[in-house]
Amino acid sequence: MNGTIQNVTILGSTGSIGVNTLDVLARHPGRYRVFALSGYRQLELLADQCRRFEPKLAVVPDEASASRLAGLLEGCPTRILAGAQGLAEIAAHEATDVVMAAIVGAAGLPAGIAAARAGKKILLANKESLVMAGKVFLDACRAGGANVLPIDSEHNAVFQCLPDGRNGVGVRRIVLTASGGPFRELPLERMAGVTAAEACRHPNWKMGRKISVDSATMMNKGLELIEAHYLFDMPDTGLDVVVHPQSIVHSMVEYTDGSTLAQLGHPDMRTPIAHALAYPERIESGVGMLQLTEVGRLDFEAPDFERFACLRLAREALRAEGAAPAVLNAANEVAVESFLAGRIGFLDICRLNERVLGRLGGEPAGACLDSVLDIDARARVEAHAFVDGVCQ
Ligand code: NAD
Ligand code: MG
Repeated sequence: MNGTIQNVTILGSTGSIGVNTLDVLARHPGRYRVFALSGYRQLELLADQCRRFEPKLAVVPDEASASRLAGLLEGCPTRILAGAQGLAEIAAHEATDVVMAAIVGAAGLPAGIAAARAGKKILLANKESLVMAGKVFLDACRAGGANVLPIDSEHNAVFQCLPDGRNGVGVRRIVLTASGGPFRELPLERMAGVTAAEACRHPNWKMGRKISVDSATMMNKGLELIEAHYLFDMPDTGLDVVVHPQSIVHSMVEYTDGSTLAQLGHPDMRTPIAHALAYPERIESGVGMLQLTEVGRLDFEAPDFERFACLRLAREALRAEGAAPAVLNAANEVAVESFLAGRIGFLDICRLNERVLGRLGGEPAGACLDSVLDIDARARVEAHAFVDGVCQ
């Protein structure tokens, strides 16, 4: 660090990653200043965050939320902005040094692209934006001179195991670990009847509801394969998944000489957040040291593609390239929302994804943000038609 305080913008500060980011930042007041925050529905939490961290700007979804937040924040100097325009403004603001991209889903893409074009240091938690627009997003980063550091624990682990964080000479394979989620051992005949609450009860990680359901279907690992493909410029054949129920080994890189490098730690997102914030330095994150004698054992097994058909679908989408990853991502967002709303069953998530991928997955990839958003919108229409069919 050059000694000056870094201004940090958090897109999605009220979510699980956002709250963990503020926890790490609060430990280093001389190093980071919270410049801007954004929230969507939890305005009371956003107001608490504004009172505590006094950001210059806060963004909410619309004018009605802006007046509600203004009411909650009387006397607080934070200026309030609304909508997608507001998100893009704080992401690209000239005073912003670091952008934590922690909005969930496709909603995070436009502001992420704005940060990329403005050449920010981007801490990327929002994997969906890379899945739906990998090339467009990375091209924007290159054009703007932005630097992307992965927050997803697996990708952050891989980054730590690669020379300079980039795919280099002698790398043979990247192996992502997966916990297997809450249904790894559930009898197959019970999978159809699982509830949203059960799907969101992850054994090792406390996360937002969307990624929790994705972990239960293992679509999360599928999205992460696509994310790794783009982040580390690794073909599908160089990417693998191994199930590791303890979530202590966060991922591995294999080298041609027989070495495997791994990153280990408690399953706590403050470690990758602190790593990416301070990189290439190291700072305290609030996470305790790993005591391997207390962990006792580390288990590994191959993923079950019958139980976790979403993982197979994501691999197919990665191989197909074109619009397939974007189509799969959009379909899956609708499927997960519909499952969480009690409109479709757990196994319908994969059925819906397969149907929409079959209909639109063969199209060419969007070449710019607008065409990516167009494919995303069309896939959502197909997905909603499926949900309406199930609900009839
Ligand atoms: P979350 O649901 O807890 O939080 C999401 C945040 O996005 C909230 O601040 C919410 O207000 C905001 N948001 C939601 N919809 C929005 C919209 N339409 N427009 C603007 N803002 C909106 O989710 P999370 O678990 O913190 O995950 C955030 C991202 O990080 C996801 O892409 C997820 O895949 C990724 N991620 C999360 C974890 C984790 O441990 N939670 C780990 C790895 C990656
Ligand atoms: Mg992950």
